[in-house]
Amino acid sequence: MKSTFTTTEKYAKNLDLEDPLAKFRSRFFIPKDTIYLDGNSLGLFPRDAEKCILRVMKEWKTLGIQGWFESERPWWYYGENLGAIAAPLVGAEPNEVVATGTTTINLHSLVSTFYHPKGKKTKILADELDFPTDIYALKSQLKLKGLNPEEHLVLAPSNGRFFDEKKIVELMTEEIALVMLPSALYRSGQLLDMAYLTKEAHTRDIPIGFDCCHSVGAVPHYFDDWGVDFAVWCSYKYLNSGPGGTAFLYINKKHFNKDPGLTGWFGYVKEKQFEMLLDFEHAKSAGGWQMSSSNILCSAPIEGALDVMLEAGIERIREKSIKLTEYLIHLTDHLLAESPYNFEVGTPRDPDRRTGHIALEHDEAFRISEALKARGVVTDYRPPNIVRVAPVALYNTYHEVWKIVQILQEIIDNREYENIFK
Ligand SMILES: *Cc1c(COP(=O)(O)O)cnc(C)c1O
Repeated sequence: MKSTFTTTEKYAKNLDLEDPLAKFRSRFFIPKDTIYLDGNSLGLFPRDAEKCILRVMKEWKTLGIQGWFESERPWWYYGENLGAIAAPLVGAEPNEVVATGTTTINLHSLVSTFYHPKGKKTKILADELDFPTDIYALKSQLKLKGLNPEEHLVLAPSNGRFFDEKKIVELMTEEIALVMLPSALYRSGQLLDMAYLTKEAHTRDIPIGFDCCHSVGAVPHYFDDWGVDFAVWCSYKYLNSGPGGTAFLYINKKHFNKDPGLTGWFGYVKEKQFEMLLDFEHAKSAGGWQMSSSNILCSAPIEGALDVMLEAGIERIREKSIKLTEYLIHLTDHLLAESPYNFEVGTPRDPDRRTGHIALEHDEAFRISEALKARGVVTDYRPPNIVRVAPVALYNTYHEVWKIVQILQEIIDNREYENIFK
């Protein structure tokens, strides 16, 4: 694939003409005069999602409390319903996924379900490049058990960018009670080998969970085939379901009988929830891990966003995403690597080893990302030296990828970043 790319604008436009997913761009609100390459932080707003929000608002206006049972998709089952719709994206059965809570809350809920320190087996294995909220959550989970995180949280070491999974496996000792890892690293974009890590954890009798915020919606997952115990992910990055929207959790059906660690009345067996009994009996499905009433207004956009995504198909999305990132790597190597540009690709070059974004490393990354913003190009900066560029299959074009490379050259040629206050 790589060797066929060229650096001309005409070539970029041709790639767009041949793109089978090109038509999906019009299904999104694209900010005016903007090249938006930040869908790995906040996905753009799908028109179908707006329709679902408006429908739910209308249901509330016209049905009041009856909306819980009489709306088009009854709110009472909305979390389970959206979970079932999302299940094919992660290779799960419909009742293994539920839309509920937020990523961090779901992480707490599942870690408290799976983490039971006993005897010598007391430690949690995570990694030093984790998204900070995961580490904060794990530390507080340890403290709740009266354990010192300094001693009981093991962070797998990296080379600063990537992990070697074999080194992570070496840390799966008999002292480890739980492994909790990201599917993809939020800075470098490395995609971890979840199948391999799961197999190795299970060989050692250790449960394993993944935080998949940076991969669901960009990469197909096969949780059931891999045998993953649990997973969490947000809906607002590659899933385009709105800022702070309802998140997802997956729990493998072999664990449905486990006691949820954090309980609330929405996890109750649905048919009996209104008996209002004081003994908790959880639903034997992912729905049993809900706590509160479904957040209906923040879940509605998920419905429309998933419609668009499933119509495009996650396999086709992955195919285009890889082609977009291969193209960006090619252009970076040919147009931005040499002096005076000096950009380096900080993402794995093997497409199977990366998620949907590219980390462009540069000593002036912060000021460059600000200079890009001044030019109407939205990316994001991650310390110490990364401009993250996420060309999203559903709404970005090859021409936008070509264009950002031209703009980066101009920013360096004209020293535009020097005008940015540091
Ligand atoms: C975005 C992100 C989160 C966000 O957590 P919230 O609870 O939704 O704020 C968590 N983990 C990872 C890996 C993320 O990328």
